[in-house]
Amino acid sequence: MSTADPHCIFCKIVAGQIPARKAYEDDEIIAFHDINPWAPVHILLVPKPHIVSMVEVLPEHQPILGKMMVLVPQLMRELGVTDGYRQVINTGRDGGQEVMHLHMHAMGGPRPWARG
Ligand code: AMP
Ligand code: ZN
Repeated sequence: MSTADPHCIFCKIVAGQIPARKAYEDDEIIAFHDINPWAPVHILLVPKPHIVSMVEVLPEHQPILGKMMVLVPQLMRELGVTDGYRQVINTGRDGGQEVMHLHMHAMGGPRPWARG
């Protein structure tokens, strides 16, 4: 689980080399506010190991992905989101993925939103 890519921006956030506004952190997962939010609340949940995308997911990643899913309602609640939210995982170039380190967007708050 110690995989990291020295050129990856999210690995640098995991390592504390680039600042981020953190919403959650444990030994496996970090969550922080998106720098370019689409919605009043827009966080990214990132597994700490450098998994490129959902295409590279292996059976051994099942617990960490399950944990990310279960964390979302807790974090949304903590951030004051009371009327629903969207979860999005962009996968690969045609899926609109720009940062090639697996992450889940969680977006909520009153509409209208900037996007989505
Ligand atoms: P995606 O298109 O799913 O790869 O989304 C990548 C997201 O990462 C975009 O919404 C960006 O605004 C966001 N992002 C990129 N760099 C940073 C950063 N340094 N801190 C927080 N969010 C970032
Ligand atoms: Zn990475």
